[in-house]
Amino acid sequence: MSRVAYVNGRYLPHTGASVHIEDRGFQFADGVYEVCAVRDGRLIDEHPHLRRLHRSLHELKMDWPVGEPALRHIMRETVRRNRVTNGLVYVQISRGVAQRDHGFPAPGTKPTLVVTARAIAVEKYDQWAKKGVAVITLPEARWARCDIKSTGLLANVLAKQQAREKGAFEAWFVDRDGFVTEGSSTNAWIVDAKGVLRTRPLSNQILPGVTRGEILPLCRQLGIEFDERPFTVEEARNGREAFLTAASIGVMPITAVDESKIGSGAPGPVAIALGETYWSSRSDG
Ligand code: PLP
Repeated sequence: MSRVAYVNGRYLPHTGASVHIEDRGFQFADGVYEVCAVRDGRLIDEHPHLRRLHRSLHELKMDWPVGEPALRHIMRETVRRNRVTNGLVYVQISRGVAQRDHGFPAPGTKPTLVVTARAIAVEKYDQWAKKGVAVITLPEARWARCDIKSTGLLANVLAKQQAREKGAFEAWFVDRDGFVTEGSSTNAWIVDAKGVLRTRPLSNQILPGVTRGEILPLCRQLGIEFDERPFTVEEARNGREAFLTAASIGVMPITAVDESKIGSGAPGPVAIALGETYWSSRSDG
């Protein structure tokens, strides 16, 4: 079955789906995006993802390409047309097509909207989660507005590639003071040596991960002590557990940071409990 993409009002086979060469997304990465997981055909955490999309658009002074109800319909329809039961749906919005010039195009320029969906093999993620994954650390190399889910992801792309070349799942960015900001496409967490769950507080230095935002109330529910406080690489190495969160993976235990074993070298109880509770609470409704 050929995959189908929504592009500016039309559902097209991928082979025929394209945007203009002067699209500002292509020319300048002048755009934003969102990614929602699909499980059993349902969109997971759709509302917080759309809230964040709204904020990203607002921060970049971009218009919604269609109303929110229409976008929700398009996301569902793209999932349906691609027969995705478990997978991801992507929404990409750029500032539209205009003759190349750094300044914004004329008011009224229509934003470009692309929606795609694809299946993922969730069993593969489950297998990784059972074993735990490795991360490497790299100096922070991104811009000053990591809180915006912009399609400008070059530093993230280079970091992920370095991780892959080292056989790791993810790269953690580390700020000038030695504190971990987040992963190239995930938020970063540890259970420190005292047993306190730590993750960096929200600021312009990290993406306000939707999964991160959904995990915090689960910690309260499960009685897990947490502190939104930055942690160093050293604290991670000496901690009891570490894990990543993202819409695509839920909670992914980390068993090594820069080849140092974390805790026992196996996924820890906090990561496992949060991972299970996260997915089971999503399927409740
Ligand atoms: N941090 C970055 C840089 C990301 O790109 C992502 C997801 O794409 C996340 C964190 C996790 O965010 P979410 O939980 O909303 O998927």
